[in-house]
This record gives sequence, C-alpha cells and structure tokens, in this order.
Amino acid sequence: MEKHTCSARMNQPGPWEYKENLDTWEQRGPDKCCSFCGSLSPESFLEVLTKATLDDSIMIEPSTKRYKYYIKRIGFEGECGIKFYTWHLPDEDTEQFKEMDKMYRVAIVESKKRAEKYYGKIIENIRKDAGVIE
Ligand SMILES: [Zn+2]
Repeated sequence: MEKHTCSARMNQPGPWEYKENLDTWEQRGPDKCCSFCGSLSPESFLEVLTKATLDDSIMIEPSTKRYKYYIKRIGFEGECGIKFYTWHLPDEDTEQFKEMDKMYRVAIVESKKRAEKYYGKIIENIRKDAGVIE
C-alpha cells in the first residue's frame, strides 16, 4: 500500500511515533482518507470539489478552523470522508493545486447557495414542529 507522511503526525504534539512513511490512504466509501488524521486525500478532495460544482447534494463548508473543511453529502448514507485538512494540499506551484483552487472557488459559491436552502428548510421545519409558524 502506498505510504505517506501526514504532516500532522510530524508537527502536532501527541503520544505517537514521529517517523516518516507510517501513514496510508484508506478507502472510505468513494474516498481515500489519511489513516492518521482522517482527511480526504488531495485526489479525493479534488473529486469532491469538482462534484460540488454540479451536484446539488454536495456542500463544502469551511469550518471555524481555517485549516479544516467539512464535506456534507445530503441524502448519502454509508461510509465516506467528511473533512479535508489543508496540510494535505499539494504544493502551490503544481497543476493539481491550481485545479483544486479553481474548483474550490466555484464549489464554495455553489455550496453557500445550497447551505442557505438546506439549513433554511431545517430551521423552517423546527419552527413548524414547535408551532411557531404554520
Ligand atoms: Zn493526514
């Protein structure tokens, strides 16, 4: 199996081994995820970003931590990757990074529109259930 070194392993304090090439990309449903930190692989994140530009059921949500993004798939049941950590971004001068950056810009705009609709409906349902609105 292809090995890599998760930079979280090398840079964060923990009770784990500080050694290169201990981590693998594990298959979780449609995604490959880091065995150490659980992040989607760059390839899988690019796939998700690309889908999020077109597919209404996928949302990319920036978290309050600037290095973490959540991936939300509406109606998807089963195992899949749910987050991406920016320490798994490829180098900025690579084609892969440029492609991800381009897709991200579109995906985040589309995701915001979907999130407003999706969370708006949830809030509306809560209000209905509580009898606040008809
Ligand atoms: Zn990792």
